Amino acid sequence: MSNSDGKPRRAAVAANDRPGDTAVDMERIRAAVREVLLAVGEDPDREGLRETPDRVARMYAEMFSGLRRDPREPLRKTFTQKYDEMVLVKDIGFESMCEHHLLPFIGKAHVGYLPKGKIVGLSKLARAVERLARRPQVQERMTEELADLLMEELDARGVGVILEASHTCMTIRGIRKAHSICTTSAMRGAFRTNESTRAELMALVYGSR
Ligand SMILES: [Zn+2]
Repeated sequence: MSNSDGKPRRAAVAANDRPGDTAVDMERIRAAVREVLLAVGEDPDREGLRETPDRVARMYAEMFSGLRRDPREPLRKTFTQKYDEMVLVKDIGFESMCEHHLLPFIGKAHVGYLPKGKIVGLSKLARAVERLARRPQVQERMTEELADLLMEELDARGVGVILEASHTCMTIRGIRKAHSICTTSAMRGAFRTNESTRAELMALVYGSR
């Protein structure tokens, strides 16, 4: 499956892991933030705000650094291993930015897969999550993208992804439900077709809570 919007995937441009990449037009963000401050009736030249446009530009460069990094790239280094039971990494923390409000949503990912002769370093799963998170995102799409790219890159028998996040666009504005958590899941392969496999994943993720 391709991205849910049907557009081709963005190719990797920069391979470095530096937050705050030069590909971002910092001057443009600075000018825009200054406009926002003026628009709400603030004085962007008063002392407390003078550095704000630059700080915000650097923050956006970091929060959106995943746009120029291929989330598949960390998954390409796999190991041949005769292990065909479930691999599960729980509680992979992530910080993303809701593309509707440009407000953060913060949570954790639980990623399970059933290998078919190939396994991947556990930290690489976290890196793929981070690259998908650090861009304007919606949680539903991030969940599906993660499941699909793991399925493809690991050639797995099945992939199960569960994301739980608190969306500040719901907690600090609008409906203001401070403790609401949004849970999304995407099941592929055996996790989709086999109920007991899916039940095992759910028990491992939620069982001990
Ligand atoms: Zn939002």
